[in-house]
Amino acid sequence: MPISKSRNSPFDTRDERDGDRLLQIEAVYDRVPVGLCYINRDGVFVTINDQLSRIFGTETSQVVGEQIEAIIPDHAPLLRDTLKAALEGAAIADVEIDISSETFIVAAAPVTNDLGEFAGISVAYTNITNLRKMAQKLQETEQRTSYALESAGQWIWDLNIATMRVWRSPQFRALLGLDPQSAGRESVAWDIVHPEDKPRAIAAFEDVVSGRKPSFEAIYRVTRPDGGVIWILSRGKIVEFGPDGSPLRLLATSVDISAQKRIEEQLSTTVQLRLELEQKLLEANRKLKNQSERDHLTNLPNRRKFNHLLKREFLRATDSGETLVVLMVDIDHFKAYNDFYGHLAGDKCLAQVGRALNKVVKQSGGSVARFGGEEFAALLSATTNDHAVLVARQMLDAVSAMHIQHSGSANGDISVSIGIAVLDGAQGATVNGPDDLLNLADRALYESKRSGRNRLSIWGAFTN
Ligand code: GH3
Ligand code: MG
Ligand code: MG
Repeated sequence: MPISKSRNSPFDTRDERDGDRLLQIEAVYDRVPVGLCYINRDGVFVTINDQLSRIFGTETSQVVGEQIEAIIPDHAPLLRDTLKAALEGAAIADVEIDISSETFIVAAAPVTNDLGEFAGISVAYTNITNLRKMAQKLQETEQRTSYALESAGQWIWDLNIATMRVWRSPQFRALLGLDPQSAGRESVAWDIVHPEDKPRAIAAFEDVVSGRKPSFEAIYRVTRPDGGVIWILSRGKIVEFGPDGSPLRLLATSVDISAQKRIEEQLSTTVQLRLELEQKLLEANRKLKNQSERDHLTNLPNRRKFNHLLKREFLRATDSGETLVVLMVDIDHFKAYNDFYGHLAGDKCLAQVGRALNKVVKQSGGSVARFGGEEFAALLSATTNDHAVLVARQMLDAVSAMHIQHSGSANGDISVSIGIAVLDGAQGATVNGPDDLLNLADRALYESKRSGRNRLSIWGAFTN
């Protein structure tokens, strides 16, 4: 484009060198994809490049030296206003205008001459039509993606890792009780997360930022400003990295899983209740079993339990060849005791005798049961004859030592008689089962009664 000078050019005062420089600048004028012109303070086009002439729908030669109104009557007021603002030293804002279905950004800057006086404005018209179209397309694509995700119940958020500020889609913001219209990056990433879940969410975030995990995934609660709590499942990926490979942006979606969580909680409460019930049932069964094996008056195992134990110990003894001893204990003249002191006193006496016998037998590693009525039975496993006799004597002594007065007894106190049966290879007798052993102990007991009471007898070798 040939350089066009007019009387009002700001370059008027310049020498030839300035003119050369202007030529050099103007040479570039035609190469830039922007419409450029210089308008002097009177509103006359001093220079204009071909691009801008074309935008104006005219030719450069017809523009230079002309008033704004003569060339572009439609938006002459805009340039006039700009010129006026520049003359007054006011700030000049960029303006967006449409010229024959294209959109331009008009930017202007004041120009001064060598004397520092205001000479005019330099104006640039940048065509942003394509940019606008692209932006619109992008917005449409974004809207479509958002719509697809959000109608599937997924909310989008985009975290700037450097600032830790989050952009959230309007629907997400609405769910969180935030203003859906102001979708700015105003909230800090984990502000909305429930304090108890924050460490979990942050840990998941750090896993993906550090590269330990390829994606972000976390379940946590978020708190709404109204205090409501929502369970969400969030999944995301780093979508932008810096030149050094550091993560810049995390793009994620969240889905409301409050309903599932509620069901989960109900389920876990139900399971918990069931476990507790089962526990109670087990406990009740245990108690029932215990009760069914215990005698209430003496709180000792009952006959049923004793038989059980005897069976077990009998098998063990026959297997191992160890000595097993059964002791039958019967209170002497107890009928008379009841008759004389009454049934309640009889009960109390039974309990006392039971405790005394239990103490002795327990110390010897055996067990004692109330066999029925005023009879007790004791078992001593892995023992010897001598030891069994010693324990039996201790039992006689323990009962006598209580000195429970009994006017119907020979020595004036309650006493017991004991019959002992021993399962031992040395016995040389055939014992077929636990019942045989009980019968032998009974026979020995009978012998103790017959020979005067308050004594022990061993089956086969009766002793005092
Ligand atoms: P012996 O010295 O020969 O054993 O004489 P005894 O009187 O003790 O024997 P007998 O079998 O004639 O009487 C047993 C008595 O035990 C009869 C019964 O009233 C009493 N008795 C049994 N069970 C209980 C009980 O649970 N409570 C009370 N108070 N008495 C009981
Ligand atoms: Mg009896
Ligand atoms: Mg008796």
